Amino acid sequence: MIKVKNRKILLLPGDGIGPEVVNEVKKIIEWFNKNKSLDFKIDEGLVGGASYDKHKNPITDEVFYKALESEAVILGAVGGPKYDNLEFSKRPERALLKLRKELKLFANLRPAICFKQLVDASSLKPEIISGLDIMIVRELTGGIYFGEPRGIVPIENGERKGTNTHTYTTSEIHRVARVAFELAKKRKNTVTSCEKSNVMEAGMLWREEVQALRDKEFKKVELKHMLADNCAMQLVKDPKQFDVILTDNLFGDLLSDIAAMLTGSLGMLPSASLGIVNANGKRAAMYEPVHGSAPDITGQGKANPLAMIMSFAMMLRYSFDMNEDSNLIEQAVQNVLSKGLRTADIKQGSENAISTQEMGKAVISELTILLGK
Ligand code: NAD
Repeated sequence: MIKVKNRKILLLPGDGIGPEVVNEVKKIIEWFNKNKSLDFKIDEGLVGGASYDKHKNPITDEVFYKALESEAVILGAVGGPKYDNLEFSKRPERALLKLRKELKLFANLRPAICFKQLVDASSLKPEIISGLDIMIVRELTGGIYFGEPRGIVPIENGERKGTNTHTYTTSEIHRVARVAFELAKKRKNTVTSCEKSNVMEAGMLWREEVQALRDKEFKKVELKHMLADNCAMQLVKDPKQFDVILTDNLFGDLLSDIAAMLTGSLGMLPSASLGIVNANGKRAAMYEPVHGSAPDITGQGKANPLAMIMSFAMMLRYSFDMNEDSNLIEQAVQNVLSKGLRTADIKQGSENAISTQEMGKAVISELTILLGK
């Protein structure tokens, strides 16, 4: 077999169930290397609490530089109660924020797809969510989470004042809007852009600049504007009206969690964070499940690895243009669900649950069947 060129992937398992779900992805990467003539080179590093335990630092320079040199990073999850009282700069989440900021991962993509086999796992009526397929594009490196000035300062009469600043520039808005329009072109061709232009100047700028970019470069894509609070309501009332939702960092944080829950379980939700294209034409990217480190089920073999596995499928699509292989994984996941195999988080009533490892193994079996081997 002729091997295609090496692709460097960095695995950062992190904390809690992170290592458990990343372990299942590792087996799938190895399956691809063996069965599809690929040559993914895997490296690993500590991040979050696991890194703090060893180095007193949530991400070391060594791991950070490995991430810079990789073509794609796969992250499990970080955090846990053990680290909740650490000072701000040492907390596991700082590693994530550093990676997002330094890799300039400005566009966060979160698909919310309702698998027909899991329609009953949602708290909404089946007719509302059956066939749901939304892509949320959230700006990730600007807005109120990064804006200056920020901080807590003492003021007169013994009170304190907390400040965060919500700010966006034209180019920050255009680069993330461009990702949303490009995605829409390959889907149902509609972008709904959400902000609070009724009460925020930065929201007004967002609306104007998204419209200007659409009118200049994406005339064939339909663009709708919606206030972010209305979008939250519409997501619960009639989510199928949406195709691609484009929004800023703060509103995206909230709206993507609402969209996430439409589909039932956190264990089913992948995500991709894309950066700028560098001089070599490569885009930095990090892929991670939406869920956290789930301390309540850590070490029990109960974690659903499908969100992590589908994050890897997103990596194949967005970092390596391997759409066929990405589809193969998504089909394998569908087939596993059609056979009634469920981890505890997605099982119904008295159904038997399978373990993290059994779910990973089931996906590999389906991949092998689909490949006709
Ligand atoms: P969580 O996502 O870890 O867990 C919420 C609930 O969903 C829990 O009951 C958990 O058991 C369940 N769950 C999550 N993922 C699952 C999976 N794959 N399979 C089955 N069940 C799953 O959120 P939390 O409990 O609010 O946070 C726990 C820790 O994770 C905190 O320290 C938090 O800061 C951190 N966190 C990290 C990230 C990240 O690394 N990107 C994201 C969110 C939360």
